[in-house]
Amino acid sequence: MKFGGTSVADPEAIDRLIGIVRRHIEANLKAATAPVVVVSALAGVTDSLVAIAQLAEEGAGDRAAAELKALLERHVVVATAITTESRARVLADVRQEFEELAGLVHALAVLREVSPRSRDAMLASGELVSSRIVAAALADHSIPSAWVDARTVLVTDAEHTGAAPDMDETGERARERLAPVVAQGKVAVLGGFIGATANGITSTLGRGGSDYSAAIFGACLDADEIQIWTDVDGMLTADPRIVPQPRLVRQLSFAEASELAYFGAKVLHPSTILPAVAKNIPVRILNSRRPENPGTRITADGGPEAGGLTAIACKRDVTVIDITSTRMLMAHGFLRRLFEVFERFKTAVDVVTTSEVSVSVTVDDTRRLDGILDNLHNFAEASCEPEMAIICAVGENLRADPTLFGRAVTALERIPLRLVSQAASRRNITFVLRDSDVPHAMMRLHETFF
Ligand code: ADP
Ligand code: ASP
Ligand code: MG
Repeated sequence: MKFGGTSVADPEAIDRLIGIVRRHIEANLKAATAPVVVVSALAGVTDSLVAIAQLAEEGAGDRAAAELKALLERHVVVATAITTESRARVLADVRQEFEELAGLVHALAVLREVSPRSRDAMLASGELVSSRIVAAALADHSIPSAWVDARTVLVTDAEHTGAAPDMDETGERARERLAPVVAQGKVAVLGGFIGATANGITSTLGRGGSDYSAAIFGACLDADEIQIWTDVDGMLTADPRIVPQPRLVRQLSFAEASELAYFGAKVLHPSTILPAVAKNIPVRILNSRRPENPGTRITADGGPEAGGLTAIACKRDVTVIDITSTRMLMAHGFLRRLFEVFERFKTAVDVVTTSEVSVSVTVDDTRRLDGILDNLHNFAEASCEPEMAIICAVGENLRADPTLFGRAVTALERIPLRLVSQAASRRNITFVLRDSDVPHAMMRLHETFF
């Protein structure tokens, strides 16, 4: 059971979490195993830590220290969810974590440098303290629990700020350190998003990675279900921050959910589905404010959703790179050369379209863009266009119903489309357009299909 930032934001949210875990245990008494709980940092805390890292980079040590103090105070308030004497113990742990963090931030501010590895060490604090508070709050309400340092279980590679799990090693650690807790009927509570390299250096899975942590632990423990508790009713037909009143999608296939998450449905980290697919474990998205609602169920087969599309998603602020070469005409090996450049610069490509003499791709990570363009110029003309966006319309029905594509394009008439693509799976249609056209385009598509 993974609880996101808003689901642990304040003492009231933690009370709701306790109620949800309690009802789950009571409903599963016969199973004699307890759920594992994975929590994010309190809402907004990771963003604050990012801002503090920025201050350290600018050498603004005093301001960083003041921000840290405010963050600590917020945790002290949330810890009032714990009413017994264990509160003092937890607060001592929380204060110690913040003291260590303050030392680290001070050093970074003196150096005016925050490496990816230091950033991970900083950001991990949010999940370390929130998970300690939640573990104690559960115990405080007579739910046997044990705090487990996620860094002793989730083993990752050393790609700091976006590390990948070593599933074999993590599986072994989970059997060693988590399974016994579960077997004792205790709720193991871990911070999401964080892990450590084989050498024990703190790492993170990338922003929003707590969902992924939950799926990794769920897969390692052969869980019956992976539950993502958040602040919306489930996967919605569109991003509610862009389209007012989207509908709930009751059932989704793993493949549909992956596409939507990858192309911007923030409610799920894009990698969440991978471990679930590997073990065929259903994923449910549920609203921690309305736990009685059915939520969204994600399974291998998905749902018998009648006709139409399943949902639409958008990924904003991407960059289109156009690569043109007259030598490309009938030249074998051209695409290999082209994609090797992206591989060398560790930059993922999202959408690809080709014509006879040109290839267009989109990227969202532009940190190494200059190097990429330089290298492409060795054998082609290359130019880039920022402030673009991807809209992705997803649905298993796209395969069976060829009219859906036409309806989608018609809905977008008069909106300039830069690239259009539909891959062999025919589970999605992808449009690349100007970022400023996104709200209008999303509304048009949503009106047409939902
Ligand atoms: P948590 O802190 O629980 O992980 P997130 O903020 O990461 O929550 O994800 C939930 C948010 O995702 C929602 O509040 C909503 O604004 C956003 N979102 C974007 N697209 C969708 C979608 N298709 N369905 C549901 N939520 C979406
Ligand atoms: N706290 C982390 C973040 O804000 C991880 C997560 O919430 O999933 O990115
Ligand atoms: Mg999230």
